[in-house]
Amino acid sequence: CNPVTCVGAGVPSNTTLFDRSKEAIPGGVNSSIRAFKAVGGEPYVVARASGATITDVEGTTYLDLVQSYGAVILGHAHPAVTAAITDAVGAGTSYGAPTPREMKLAEEISSRMPSCERVRLMNSGTEATSTAIRLARGVTGRDRIVTFAGNFHGATDALLVAGGSGVATLGLPGTAGVPNASVAETMVVPYNVVPQLDDKVAAVIVEPVAANMGVVAPVAGFLEGLRAECDRVGALLIFDEVITGFRLAPGGAQAKYDIRADITCFGKVIGGGLPIGAVGGRRDIMEHLSPLGPVFHAGTLSGNPLATAAGLAALDTLTPDVYIELLARVRHLSSKMRDACASAGFEASFPVVGTLFGIVCGDAASDAVTNFDEAKRTDEAAYSRFFQAMLAEGVALAPGAYEAMFVGLGHTDEVIDRIAEATFRAATTAA
Ligand code: PLP
Repeated sequence: CNPVTCVGAGVPSNTTLFDRSKEAIPGGVNSSIRAFKAVGGEPYVVARASGATITDVEGTTYLDLVQSYGAVILGHAHPAVTAAITDAVGAGTSYGAPTPREMKLAEEISSRMPSCERVRLMNSGTEATSTAIRLARGVTGRDRIVTFAGNFHGATDALLVAGGSGVATLGLPGTAGVPNASVAETMVVPYNVVPQLDDKVAAVIVEPVAANMGVVAPVAGFLEGLRAECDRVGALLIFDEVITGFRLAPGGAQAKYDIRADITCFGKVIGGGLPIGAVGGRRDIMEHLSPLGPVFHAGTLSGNPLATAAGLAALDTLTPDVYIELLARVRHLSSKMRDACASAGFEASFPVVGTLFGIVCGDAASDAVTNFDEAKRTDEAAYSRFFQAMLAEGVALAPGAYEAMFVGLGHTDEVIDRIAEATFRAATTAA
């Protein structure tokens, strides 16, 4: 149905629709962070989006720095992606059988990220991280998993300990509903410190650039140290590139930092904005997955024809030049926002790592953040004030102080100038 008219006659308000949603959907949302619980107020209910803009059911248009949390790197409704989906949809939406497009997408991922000699497609980043964990345990015959405080790997039971993103935003140490047994073999250590491992460890899973506690770069030697320590004890190194994969660089974080992971998790960008996830890795590891090996994986919609069509169109468009362009835009936007906040007397810093940037509010701002404890010194109340003021100025930020901001091809110079002007006014209000 038409996103506005399907709910009845007349133009509905955000509030009417969200109230009705809450009667049908717990909290009115299908992903916790969307409820604006951390920043206050109620979410805009989206009717449509295009490029850098998102428009709610009342017809208000925002300049969008959420970009579906990084899934739409080309901007909303990019013509190449829309055409690919339109072209694919008439041929059926799911078959439960192999397709040429899924083969092509796996080949594309392998060719851009050489550590991924084999790729298994699935439906979300969460499915990718839980499959990667199962695979690592199955391959090594060990149970222990090492994770980093403030990293977020989706709603995977074994990894929902001291996580960033939504878990951090809601102030949860973890989540109810996960038995102790599920996390008994999960060891959480500080980000940016190479832990000493032993031969009980199946895998270390890491966001190579942490993008769920703001944006935190790996310090020099951290990723190299993890690689060496995993090799020393025969553990597998899993890079969670659900955010960084094909966003940070053509070959993701592993190309930028020149480290080969044993297993890599993907989501977001590789689906061009449609639901997708993937696990890639060394052939000998990946061949432990069923049907070749004993580690089970299956999915009714895995390798979905629409998601793979959209993902292929997105990757085709993502030439090396596009990354150079995105890099320039992120630098330009973040420095303009930094200047605007400084002129308005609002304490905030804008850490940039490649094509990712974050917003850190408060007096923690001047220090470079390297781990979750430091990230938590961000002034959440100041972020909430800034968030609300930006929304009032027509700019949509992520509704949580620990999220990365996303810039896509829709963020032209003109859009960046408008966001910078809005930032000055919003920062003046929030200061
Ligand atoms: N891994 C990382 C680094 C993420 O940021 C996310 C989600 O934001 C996930 C995994 C989970 O992906 P999904 O939301 O597609 O399940």
